[in-house]
Amino acid sequence: MTMAPHTIPLSWTRERIKKDQIDRYLENGQDFIQDSEIWKKIHEVGEPNLGQVREILEKSLAIQVLTPEDLAVLIRVKDPEALQEMQEAALKIKEKVYDNRIVTFAPLYMGNYCVNNCAYCGFRHENLKAKRRVLSMDEIRKETEILTGKIGHKRIIAVYGEHPVTGIDYILQSMKTIYEVKMPTKHGYGNIRRINVNAAPMSIEELVRLRDGGLGTYQVFQETYHHETYAKLHPKGTLKSDYRWRLYAMHRAMEAGIDDVGIGVLFGLYDWRFEVMALLYHAIHLEAKMGIGPHTVSFPRMEPALNSEYAEHSPHKVSDEDFRKIILLIRLAIPYTGMIITARETAQMRRDAIGLGITQTDASTKIGIGSYSEEGTGQETERQQFMLGDTRSLDELVNDFAEMGHITSFCTAGYRCGRTGKCIMDLLRSGQEGKFCKLNAVLTFQEWLDDFAAPATREVGLRVLEKELEEIRIRNPQGFPVFYQFLERVRKGERDLFL
Ligand code: SF4
Repeated sequence: MTMAPHTIPLSWTRERIKKDQIDRYLENGQDFIQDSEIWKKIHEVGEPNLGQVREILEKSLAIQVLTPEDLAVLIRVKDPEALQEMQEAALKIKEKVYDNRIVTFAPLYMGNYCVNNCAYCGFRHENLKAKRRVLSMDEIRKETEILTGKIGHKRIIAVYGEHPVTGIDYILQSMKTIYEVKMPTKHGYGNIRRINVNAAPMSIEELVRLRDGGLGTYQVFQETYHHETYAKLHPKGTLKSDYRWRLYAMHRAMEAGIDDVGIGVLFGLYDWRFEVMALLYHAIHLEAKMGIGPHTVSFPRMEPALNSEYAEHSPHKVSDEDFRKIILLIRLAIPYTGMIITARETAQMRRDAIGLGITQTDASTKIGIGSYSEEGTGQETERQQFMLGDTRSLDELVNDFAEMGHITSFCTAGYRCGRTGKCIMDLLRSGQEGKFCKLNAVLTFQEWLDDFAAPATREVGLRVLEKELEEIRIRNPQGFPVFYQFLERVRKGERDLFL
């Protein structure tokens, strides 16, 4: 990369934000997050009784999105019996909508050049202690070779900083490079079949190009929805200081024809009760105005970052107990959505989170730039955005989940056979998605066990798989023979089959 990290052409910055691509979504000049209204709803709730909680849980169990008033009631719940019922309902919803599958992926950080100055981030422009680097296409190829040939990942989240060097052309070129890699494995081959992208807010024109480049899900996290806190942490004059350009990123994505979008909050920046409410407002607004709610919700919790006072001493740090409650509340409030927990959290927290309704997580995670393919790179503060809490390998994670009775899914069929956006939402709400996804989860799990599993993991994995086969045979006797033919083909070494 020839451009230095601190070189930012003024013309580039000036042209990034298209005001008309914000204003068209405003109502009476207002955005859909009204801070005082949210706080009013939280404060005006009285002590909830069990009957009231049960009524709300009935809606969640019917896969209905809750109202902000309902969520405010659940936020207030402290009674252990009510909390227990909330947890049971969350698990039932997860099983109804997503069954016992956990989808897995790997993050791939492309570079840490960034024009912004977020107070909580080690990659911020003014942090001179960060070692800056952007991967070349050759380096991206090498990273992908490890992910596909040695670890066995099939889907990644590619993460890009906001900088002219990693703009839309670089993003598209890197996606093409990743999709081209195909590595031999024990019995077949491995490749990345779905690239989700976490990148700065874009214009509709850029988003159309991103969609056409083979995008899976487009992720932009608001970080904090609280206007005043947002302004404090994202200094004036930086691109990211424009709250609304970020807030409407997903509206623009949908207008560009991207219908799988991921929203999220960096918990620890502001009061978690406000943020959970705001996530629900975002989901409701997307569905009301654009026809589809978020495909996924993420809730990273703030971790220490290089040379960042705020990350160390935030007044809004979220305790483990509150974090568990956050997961529970989101599962109940937006029952159809996928929920992602990452390796920021410890192994134990990730285990707990599975029992609260999480559907996706990463594994064998490295977030240093170039860390998958370069030897001797554990956790290094100078080249990663934050510290990880769980550095277990994919094999260890699959083993752990299998012991808990879960199947790790490597399925990426959805967007390639048109099950995205409204289609997938309708399937999820009606509990129909499992019909396809269970089958494809089993096919891809078999593929991974054959190609990558250590003997002990293969053994426990095959035990889970046998149980799944029996279940499919009973639940879907007509479809079973065709599915079984596919499975036999996978066992013989055919790869990337889906129904
Ligand atoms: S959080 Fe993102 S936008 Fe902000 S400084 Fe870090 S990398 Fe840049």
